[in-house]
Amino acid sequence: MMAQRFKKKYGQNFLKDRDGVLYRIAEIAGVTAEDHILEIGPGAGALTEILLEKAKSVTAVEIDTDLERGLRERFRNNPRFTLVMGDFLKTDLREILEEKGLSGRKIKVVANIPYYITSPILQKLIDFRALIDCVFVMVQKEVGERICAKRGKARGILTLAVEYYGEAAGHFIIGKECFTPVPKVDSALISICFYEKTSLPALIPEAVFFHYIHAAFAGKRKTLVNNLAGLGFEKKTLAEILRETGIAENERAENVSLAEYTALISRLEALKKT
Ligand code: SAM
Repeated sequence: MMAQRFKKKYGQNFLKDRDGVLYRIAEIAGVTAEDHILEIGPGAGALTEILLEKAKSVTAVEIDTDLERGLRERFRNNPRFTLVMGDFLKTDLREILEEKGLSGRKIKVVANIPYYITSPILQKLIDFRALIDCVFVMVQKEVGERICAKRGKARGILTLAVEYYGEAAGHFIIGKECFTPVPKVDSALISICFYEKTSLPALIPEAVFFHYIHAAFAGKRKTLVNNLAGLGFEKKTLAEILRETGIAENERAENVSLAEYTALISRLEALKKT
């Protein structure tokens, strides 16, 4: 493919198989002959080809119509490959999978996603988590650090938004030299494996949970007490409840775990009812 064909507006940085990076992704994703894979943005099909070697089927959603011919040509003899042309953010995932007879099955998502829409893609995958077992995606290294951070500045609403629904893990860093054209930043392979509804670690309704999380992170330099006071609680009461929950009085939102938030929010909700 000629260099001028890469489209920046679609976040096109294609993977070269440097040091077997494509195989490493498929291996970490644990792709087996039982797996139905969804790939977002197959590009020229480098990762798709490896996935097709191992998986039962690969369904790929690509927005760039200029790539359609090449992809159809490359995999023309493979009945286990389905190409869906369109914007992933606008596709009805349930319909696509139902058409393939995959409704109710748990698919795996394996993809080098376009970074300009990382958050909306992750949000959509979270929304459709009932259909998905695990997601293995390459993201910008810093975004990967944010998603997987257990403590510290990198931890934020995005981290909790993922932790609420699944277990996130970082696997390896992929240097920018592994892509064509070479981007400005390195990448990381991360995974999110969704919990079954019944085993969600935070058993607080999501609207309530995120109402508190958004408040907790409202002022970046403020302590948790000061941020939560924005919800109308007295600072003295908040400090007391924090202490009882095992959280330091002057703690910041970024250093609080999901389990601690769950305990804290339960206490605050109970307090509202008294
Ligand atoms: N998977 C290929 C690889 O690893 O070499 C290409 C990855 S490239 C980072 C991102 C791909 O996503 C491109 O093929 C781009 O055209 C496609 N893409 C961008 N926006 C998209 C969207 N909204 N829906 C579906 N595909 C999209």
